[in-house]
Amino acid sequence: MISQSLAINSFQPSRRTLMGPGPSDVSNRVLDAMARPTLGHLDPEFISMMNETKELLQYVFQTKNDWTFAVSAPGSAGMECCFANMVEPGDKVIVCQNGVFGGRMRENVERCGGIPIMVTDPWGCPVDPEKVEAALKDHPDTSLVAFVHAETSTGVRSDAERLTQLAHDFGCLVIVDSVTGLVGSPLLVDDWKIDAIYSGTQKCLSAPPGLSPISFNDAAAAKIRSRKSKVQSWFLDLNLIMGYWGGDTKRSYHHTAPVNCLYGLHESLIIVNEEGLEAGWARHQDNHAYLKAGLKDLGIEFLVDESFRLPQLNSVIIPDGVDDAVVRSRLLEEFSLEIGAGLGELAGKVWRIGLMGHSSNTKNVDYCLSALKFILKEVS
Ligand SMILES: *Cc1c(COP(=O)(O)O)cnc(C)c1O
Repeated sequence: MISQSLAINSFQPSRRTLMGPGPSDVSNRVLDAMARPTLGHLDPEFISMMNETKELLQYVFQTKNDWTFAVSAPGSAGMECCFANMVEPGDKVIVCQNGVFGGRMRENVERCGGIPIMVTDPWGCPVDPEKVEAALKDHPDTSLVAFVHAETSTGVRSDAERLTQLAHDFGCLVIVDSVTGLVGSPLLVDDWKIDAIYSGTQKCLSAPPGLSPISFNDAAAAKIRSRKSKVQSWFLDLNLIMGYWGGDTKRSYHHTAPVNCLYGLHESLIIVNEEGLEAGWARHQDNHAYLKAGLKDLGIEFLVDESFRLPQLNSVIIPDGVDDAVVRSRLLEEFSLEIGAGLGELAGKVWRIGLMGHSSNTKNVDYCLSALKFILKEVS
């Protein structure tokens, strides 16, 4: 036993309202699912649940890709899985950066021995297809284009369909980050012909953090199968992981799946399926509009132009003279409400109000608006 004088009790977290950039609120249905008995990860019951999870993931990604599953680690691992498998040493990769996550893509390319060619746009703006086209013309030996569909650091949606089409016109494959996009905004992996895509459970799926849904089409799988060098990461090597998640063949041990986390993902996907993807997209849009109307009454403006704004991640400009940290800590302490801070060059300038998945409802919007109104009156 550790020192008798130290009383460490079971952890009892507060019940928060999570309206930041993720994690979003997790429903009791999902939490209850995770509390069910742990099974062996090769138990036939568990495997049939995995098969259902795969089918449900294909639905939310709108794909028939066989290589669709959840990486056993958070969104960042899904990112790493895409890059580690798709990038070979010496590969030229056009990386579009219009916020934090494009910078992480660059890191990934470099660590895989690839050569990043950066196409940058200002924070708060979408990726500019014309700049991407110019980069593709300047670097005809490029093999991949990587971009973020939904930039959580700014609340911007880029045109994933158009960027993918452009990349294909120049014989490149795409890697798409839709960690925040999936389920919150229209995303059609097969129609848009996206080659490799990763997401996360903790944003609009409203399952706890710790898993990364991912999908690869045949062209991406072919590129991975024909690699000249081994994937540098053993854990993320899809050639090995697919022995566990793949097909109908007998599953072999690769790593122990995070069994109870997958129960949570399974339940969250059932919830999305019950609502229907289109209805969910519309709900995210409606609650964004409702928040926008309320913020207007408070005199608070949006950072991002309406035409490419994400309904699930609202970057709003902190009013002049208001102390960012004071307001956010009072929201947490007095209202048990979490909203997000600005990142990078937007730190101290914006708040990021998430309306993701289960958190996207009118009750949360009302609660956030009245809490903000109360605190802003006191501090200004
Ligand atoms: C949250 C996020 C990630 C990383 O996901 P984690 O679950 O935090 O590892 C990557 N990309 C984007 C756009 C995100 O919003």
